[in-house]
Amino acid sequence: MSYDAEARMQFLFTLRSRGVRDPRVLTAMEKVDRQLFVGGVFEARAYEDTPLPIACGQTISQPSIVGLMTQALDVQTRDKVLEVGTGSGYQAAILSHLCRRVYTVDRHRPLARSAQTVLDQLGIANVTVLAADGGRGLPEQAPFDRILVTAAAEDPPGPLLAQLRVGGSMVVPVGQSDHVQTLVKVTRHDTGYDYEELETVRFVPLLEGVELD
Ligand code: SAH
Repeated sequence: MSYDAEARMQFLFTLRSRGVRDPRVLTAMEKVDRQLFVGGVFEARAYEDTPLPIACGQTISQPSIVGLMTQALDVQTRDKVLEVGTGSGYQAAILSHLCRRVYTVDRHRPLARSAQTVLDQLGIANVTVLAADGGRGLPEQAPFDRILVTAAAEDPPGPLLAQLRVGGSMVVPVGQSDHVQTLVKVTRHDTGYDYEELETVRFVPLLEGVELD
């Protein structure tokens, strides 16, 4: 199936029925053809609401979870956003339509490279992909208005909390990696941080270090 009008309508219907209601998020997701981020044999399943395997033993997230996380992040048009866990680049492509600038990092260099290639092919020019350990954040670009972590951390990483601007927020799956995790939204205030628990999710773990191939 190609991302024709019918595939798009069905895709958006599923997203809505799973709670993705923000019209800005739905419009951004309508624009980005997920099949371009899914390789080989799984291409045929690109419009199903399911996570799929990508290179380096990682996964492209389930579309409805991408939608719910993006909705929870409440990205504003002038925002500078950090994504930790580029994976396929799909989530970064969606963010690119909603804000001014996206930095996205993955610890697997081959994933960072292939994501950058797809984003370039799509003419998306406001995303920078870097191979780096995102648990340390990206100090040279901090502070960020929004941070989205798409791998599971045992706790919201300290460097990421520190790189959030006052008034900014971060969405991160928190919990043991081999269990279900809780999606947490952290908001930074003048004097500290607020934590709000959202839904239950299941992500690959946030690991340390960088893999070169
Ligand atoms: N957002 C992705 C899916 C993320 S899968 C998409 O739209 O396709 C989780 C990704 O997090 C994996 O690619 C994994 O390599 C990466 N990851 C895990 N720990 C990391 C870390 N410390 N720094 C950066 N990336 C990390």
